[in-house]
Amino acid sequence: MVKETGFYDMLGVQPNATADELKKAYRKLALKYHPDKNPTEGERFKQISQAYEVLSDSQKREVYDRGGEKRKGKNVVHQLVVNLEDFYIGAMRKLAVQKNTICDKCEGRGGRKGAVEMCMSCHGTGMQVRLHQLGLGMVQQVSTVCHSCQGQGRRISHKDRCKACGGRKIVRQKKILEVHIDKGMKDGQKVVFQGEGDQEPGLEPGDIIIVLDQKDHPRFTRQGLDLVMTMELQLVESLCGFQKPVKTLDNRTLLINSNPGELVKPGDRKCILNEGMPTHRRPFEKGRLIINFLVVFPKANFLPQGKLKDLEAYLPGKLEAEQPASMDDDLYFYADLEDCDFENRKRPSRHYHVEGDDYASASGVQCQTS
Ligand SMILES: [Zn+2]
Ligand SMILES: [Zn+2]
Repeated sequence: MVKETGFYDMLGVQPNATADELKKAYRKLALKYHPDKNPTEGERFKQISQAYEVLSDSQKREVYDRGGEKRKGKNVVHQLVVNLEDFYIGAMRKLAVQKNTICDKCEGRGGRKGAVEMCMSCHGTGMQVRLHQLGLGMVQQVSTVCHSCQGQGRRISHKDRCKACGGRKIVRQKKILEVHIDKGMKDGQKVVFQGEGDQEPGLEPGDIIIVLDQKDHPRFTRQGLDLVMTMELQLVESLCGFQKPVKTLDNRTLLINSNPGELVKPGDRKCILNEGMPTHRRPFEKGRLIINFLVVFPKANFLPQGKLKDLEAYLPGKLEAEQPASMDDDLYFYADLEDCDFENRKRPSRHYHVEGDDYASASGVQCQTS
């Protein structure tokens, strides 16, 4: 998209002009304003030549056309931390941002009216064309941004500069933005305020871009449209059924219910339809609430030993173990279960190894010297 059209305007053509149309327009104007015929229009002739020099070269023309877009003011990016609840229900948040705005006092001129004068270094073009000798009579033409006016083409003398902006034409200003977080928006999503970014005289203002950053939730994690949570069950609940409340993100209470006779095992995953996150722009379509179950076993010796037989009677039978013919036999040993201390088991054995190696090499040296 072509936005900056100064060079096209100078030649009196449309930004979509063909190479032929550009050439014709240039020839006509060059004849009209040639210094031989029109000595007072030398400046105009230079500008026309410069415009044609850029636009007649397809590569330079493309850069110029793209440059037109870049001239747009800078985008400002802000991060906004959002709760999962806000993504579920929707919310409006106010955000204070600092941005460059065009100075009111001087209306972006940088000084009093009429104080702006054309930059004499570049004759108002903002560009300086230099000739580089390449040897063998070859000359390269290089365009650079004018140093005297930073490419503005105009300057303001010190005494005439605006007091409010110091001649910079822009001032920093605080602005309050209302950020609407729609139901179903997600982490990393951008809310764009078009044209609310930094202003600069003569440029289209940039955008303010708010990047939503989802805060971790203590109970739920979000997986696409699904919400995932962990639920702890006591062993008795996993075996005999349960009713457990879960507070939703919009503060309702779901009563999670298991049917009589149903059994929930450790690691089981179950889901509740339509209790996940709403779909962005279709908030009535919701994902699932997925529950990962953990089963907490009772503590050791929770039951007097005499009662264990009673409990056993209700549980499915043990698998038959092969019984030794006689316990006197040397083939059978009783083996007790111990808690494994993996942390401490490794260190002493490694330590022992190093010591052993040292001892072996030291004794080897002794053998040779004796
Ligand atoms: Zn000002
Ligand atoms: Zn200049």
